Amino acid sequence: MTHRLPTDTDDGLLLIISGPSGAGKTTITRGVERRIADSVFSVSYTTRARTPADTEGVDYHFTTDELFNAMKARGEFLETAGVYGKQYGTPKAPVVEQLRRGRLMILEIDVQGAITVKSQIPDAFAIFVLPPSEEVLLQRLRDRKREDEAQIQKRFAAAKAEIDAARNSGVYDVFIVNDKIDAATQRAIDLVAAERTRRRGVR
Ligand code: 5GP
Repeated sequence: MTHRLPTDTDDGLLLIISGPSGAGKTTITRGVERRIADSVFSVSYTTRARTPADTEGVDYHFTTDELFNAMKARGEFLETAGVYGKQYGTPKAPVVEQLRRGRLMILEIDVQGAITVKSQIPDAFAIFVLPPSEEVLLQRLRDRKREDEAQIQKRFAAAKAEIDAARNSGVYDVFIVNDKIDAATQRAIDLVAAERTRRRGVR
């Protein structure tokens, strides 16, 4: 039996946030993290290259295929997924620990990962962030000026496939349309608060 700390609660909730690139899910995720006091962001491991926008240990733990595969073999991941030929994984220990302490644990993961997590932790609450329209999504991908047009078209096709996969997965409790970022973030915060209140009522 692990010792219960005075700050521990029974309010633990595993929150999954997914969405295609360009939908604004990272902004929404970080907004939820900032505004819900007991939230903890799950820092994934990845074998993709670090970009200037990434901070090691904050956005990801950047690692090699060799180390990633060793962790996987030791059963240290709750889920893993391949995205654009790179590996991504959610470390299991922090999730178990934070839920035990009653925290809001936030996983920003793709649809494959969400399906795996829901199969293992069925009471996870899952939100999918949608762009307002395909036209807006394409425009947002172009506005980021990160890639050339061929890459943008690839991301656009992948985004549409991800949205279809999400709709067909049966995993998501809610779909939020991100028309205005502040309103969409507030909607995610309100949904999480309502879900925790609802669960307190049935305990
Ligand atoms: P990016 O490389 O652009 O940061 O992330 C690419 C995609 O991988 C995004 O959809 C992101 O949500 C997803 N992702 C990030 N970390 C994980 C993870 O640990 N597991 C899974 N399944 N997907 C992840």
